[in-house]
Amino acid sequence: IILHNGKSIKTTNQFLMLKFPGVRTYIDPLTYEDPNQAVHEFTQEIDVSFISIERIIGAGEFGEVCCGPLRLPGKRELQVAIKTLKAGYTEQQRRDFLWEASIMGQFNHPNIIRLEGVVTKSKPVMIITEYMENGSLDTFLKKNDGQFTVIQLVGMMRGIASGMRYLSDMGYVHRDLAARNILVNGNLVCKVSDFGLSRVLEDDAEATYTTRGGKIPIRWTAPEAIAFRKFTSASDVWSYGIVMWEVMSYGERPYWEMSNQDVIKAVEESYRLPGPMDCPEALYHLMMDCWQRERTNRPKFDEIVCLLDKFIRNPSSLKKLVNSSHRVSNLLVEHASVEGDCSSRNQTVGDWLDSIKMGRYTELFMEGGYASLETVAQMTSE
Ligand code: AMP
Repeated sequence: IILHNGKSIKTTNQFLMLKFPGVRTYIDPLTYEDPNQAVHEFTQEIDVSFISIERIIGAGEFGEVCCGPLRLPGKRELQVAIKTLKAGYTEQQRRDFLWEASIMGQFNHPNIIRLEGVVTKSKPVMIITEYMENGSLDTFLKKNDGQFTVIQLVGMMRGIASGMRYLSDMGYVHRDLAARNILVNGNLVCKVSDFGLSRVLEDDAEATYTTRGGKIPIRWTAPEAIAFRKFTSASDVWSYGIVMWEVMSYGERPYWEMSNQDVIKAVEESYRLPGPMDCPEALYHLMMDCWQRERTNRPKFDEIVCLLDKFIRNPSSLKKLVNSSHRVSNLLVEHASVEGDCSSRNQTVGDWLDSIKMGRYTELFMEGGYASLETVAQMTSE
């Protein structure tokens, strides 16, 4: 710590936490010379005899994910998820695997996946977390397409925003916020997960190498994070807007089949995802706000939670649905709205479609009677 008189004192992370209990800051496990020390400090060792593995529920990067009861002496039996590290691992893999636990162990919030503990003194090495009955949010939504009320969907988004507010208050930047990294429990409570390698994103199939060598899930990532790796809570807000879009469209893939390069170019040219089908206008406005090019203009998680709370308290604010003239089927819209663009630039429908890499649909538009951008702007989803 550097004191105000310029002198510095050496301290330990433990000291920091004890001395300043009100200031909750996340401590990067990288600050530990020995990563095992971070695991020791932030996690609780569980004796493997308290855990029963019942069945496999998924495949993680390092091994199977199972579930079963955890029976700690003197505590109520608890259903848990058990991540295992497969045999034959290297020391580096063991470190990477336990990395997630030493991050998760620092968090304590109802919308962040809770770490129960780790098993490191016997093999296989395990990470024990609370069990989330409905699995990851993207698959859950796809399985239940159209089944929830708007208020239920807003409740899910509110939970995710609240978890993200906590993380940003802690000074933790997630970098890989996406519906696939949110888990859902039996009461529809959504919790942020996947703290694994959020700094390098090696374990996310969506992450692709950029020209600068970093691995980034392009469709979910803010332009400044793609362009010069400026990952901040404001770039997490951009990703949050994409998660809102995934929720309102029941797990649809953002930007559909467009290539990553086309997504980058379209976003750079101010095009954004259109409002999902039957999406309340107020929610679409919030998404669009999260996708402001200038990151300081994006709302903070704090503001997002407050706004979503307002919507929940006053559901009539969600009655008005996205104007279907703004919703040109699966085509992107310009951030300043489609109409503005049509009149200002004197473009043809062909030019416009070309500019968003949809030129191949020009003929279809002409055949359908959409020969001018004015008529396109008045198009309805039917
Ligand atoms: P992960 O390695 O964290 O991406 O986990 C792989 C898969 O296992 C996830 O996509 C989920 O389907 C499942 N899974 C992971 N953690 C949990 C959990 N706590 N509760 C239920 N399912 C989980």
